[in-house]
Amino acid sequence: MELNDFTPNTIIEPFRIRSVEPIRFTSLEQRKELLQQAGYNPFLLKAKDVLIDLLTDSGTGAMSSNQWSGMISSDESYAGSESFYKFEAAVRDITGFEHVIPTHQGRAAENILFTTIARKGDVIPSNTHFDTTRAHVEHNGAEALDLVIDEGRQPLTIHPFKGNMNVEKLRETIESIGRERIPVIMLTLTNNSGGGQPVSMQNIKEVSEIAREFDIPFFIDACRFAENSWFIKTREDGYADKSPIEIAREIFSYADGCTMSAKKDGMANIGGFLALNDDQIAQECRSLTILTEGFPTYGGMAGYDMEAVAAGLYEALDEGYLRYRIRSTAYFGEKLTDAGISIVQPTGGHAVYIDAREMLPNIKPLEYPAWSLTNALYLIGGVRAVEIGSVMFGLQPDGTEKPAAMELVRLAIPRRVYTQSHIDYLAEVVINTFEQREKLNGYKIVSAPPVLRHFSARLEPFES
Ligand SMILES: *Cc1c(COP(=O)(O)O)cnc(C)c1O
Repeated sequence: MELNDFTPNTIIEPFRIRSVEPIRFTSLEQRKELLQQAGYNPFLLKAKDVLIDLLTDSGTGAMSSNQWSGMISSDESYAGSESFYKFEAAVRDITGFEHVIPTHQGRAAENILFTTIARKGDVIPSNTHFDTTRAHVEHNGAEALDLVIDEGRQPLTIHPFKGNMNVEKLRETIESIGRERIPVIMLTLTNNSGGGQPVSMQNIKEVSEIAREFDIPFFIDACRFAENSWFIKTREDGYADKSPIEIAREIFSYADGCTMSAKKDGMANIGGFLALNDDQIAQECRSLTILTEGFPTYGGMAGYDMEAVAAGLYEALDEGYLRYRIRSTAYFGEKLTDAGISIVQPTGGHAVYIDAREMLPNIKPLEYPAWSLTNALYLIGGVRAVEIGSVMFGLQPDGTEKPAAMELVRLAIPRRVYTQSHIDYLAEVVINTFEQREKLNGYKIVSAPPVLRHFSARLEPFES
């Protein structure tokens, strides 16, 4: 008799583990003391004191045996190393961009790009600028303008592509301030600060058409281009039969360049690049690379890092990997939703974002509800998450404070690191914290630097 094939409900991790790293358990009493010593800022905790670390998916992934084998045989020549040519070929193959400038991570690519093209008084529109992108734009005296569609600012509204840019607003912006003050239009794929939400191919095309109409360069912040490709494949008409790499190539074909952190969909622990077509801008960027990063055939990376990225970019586009990646994030989100917790809907690619304003209505925005929830997750379960709210975004360039558009707690999932039982535990911690939500206090900032303050600020809880 013919046996039937079956479709499993369990999406198993598409790898097996052959190297392990112990994690350390602590008690509630210990965590109280550790958090206080860290100035109530999870960024300042020691990683060994964290049980499950969801601070970021950046550079925290596990590498494959394939990546390690490339790393062992890397070419560490200062100029013209074989590892660079492999890296360049992979980036060109996927993005189609002519000039590939390696950088030590994504923000270095942003620094080089914006130092080269942005001037005081300029405006740089994006769907939503990531925090380092915004900081580099502002550091160069330009304004970082977020033009995400309205649905992208409403945590609970369901929309398949909440990372889309509002193209009418983009056009109005260009017409009102003039194209000469807009050196570049950016689009962040997926929209990290807006809940890891994807951008549709249709929207990418429309932004590209407007950019071409006004002769403005169009760059993609490509950190999660592979995850975005998967969402296009599974949510947008006409892409179901295309492979992720075909979709990625189409995305990049509409742009003039990209900045990339290889610590995300480069599947590497460090690295990044700036890739673009314009010869003149590329030359200026290369000169700056020599000044700030290194010779343009290594740009702040070791040869073995470039090997890891060259292989990693393809692994991030593997269908089995992407199916598991996106499904396991959704699985985590479903467990929280089933328990009545508000999260950004639908779940994005790399993280689950809890709506802290909804969970903690009694904590005022400028007493940082999302920060409070983040600290509670650590105290209760040894889990480290990150606030994406008014501590991260509330400080204005003129020194005043304004509540952020959303108060989110991001639980970012490192790539290929945690298993389903880790995710089950995480859901238990969040649900348990939710049940104790009335006991949570607001916070005040005791000291903070003027830029990117969330990384090193020290806080104190208000007494209840
Ligand atoms: C991480 C990230 C960056 C910056 O990259 P780094 O490698 O951390 O410097 C820029 N944009 C987005 C969307 C990111 O997620």
